[in-house]
Amino acid sequence: MGKPKYNRVILKLSGEALSGNKGTGIDEETIVGISQQIKKLHEVGVEVAIVVGGGNFWRGRSAKEMDRSTSDYMGMLGTVINALALQNALERIGVVTRVQTAIEMRQVAEPYIKRKAIRHLEKGRVVIFGAGSGNPYFSTDTAAALRAAEIEADVILLAKKGVDGVYDSDPNENINAKKFEHLRYIDILNMGLGIMDSTATSLCMDNKIPLVVFGIDEPDNILKVALGEKIGTEVKEE
Ligand code: UDP
Repeated sequence: MGKPKYNRVILKLSGEALSGNKGTGIDEETIVGISQQIKKLHEVGVEVAIVVGGGNFWRGRSAKEMDRSTSDYMGMLGTVINALALQNALERIGVVTRVQTAIEMRQVAEPYIKRKAIRHLEKGRVVIFGAGSGNPYFSTDTAAALRAAEIEADVILLAKKGVDGVYDSDPNENINAKKFEHLRYIDILNMGLGIMDSTATSLCMDNKIPLVVFGIDEPDNILKVALGEKIGTEVKEE
């Protein structure tokens, strides 16, 4: 097996990726499969920090009557459920992990402390970041960009369910949709590509954080991307 392309990565897993074919909640078989992929990544010597989404439970913007910040805090709590489930699945297969949350909940997890997170990574622990950025009106994609900048990750690996990269239109609706191999962040903003929200895109662009968008449905894709195999779409500033 080749040498990994990256030393330290942020793996962004959407909530949906954990729900398998159920669409909502957590599918135990799916989370075990993803954990096995993460274990392989860890075993080749990559420092792995994970930002988990929460869309399998709740998305702040989907509330109709509720005020937005309450709805967003509910979404952030959903990400913590996912973080705990992932921690448990990883530990059952022998991967040492720490969960850090952006909203303090001491009985459940450590609070987010940058230096401690880096220390855990250096000691070979997988760190899972829960509760997004801790702020309403943000997404976990933005949290992934923020944490990547803070811990100086080499790349964000954006694992998507149901799509294997960035397209010029929805490939599930348009059979002629064209997949991009390379993109710049400014292209995502200019073309209004819905792969990440504009806050997350701008944060990555301003801080020159490379991103690889790829499909998680294929087994071993996480490892393949980390080994530098050309799958999905690579986004970076030229
Ligand atoms: N959220 C938030 N601030 C953050 C991260 C997440 O308010 O920093 C809330 C927001 O309501 C969001 C929900 O948590 O809709 C779940 O996160 P996200 O939609 O990013 O999850 P994903 O789509 O990746 O599963």
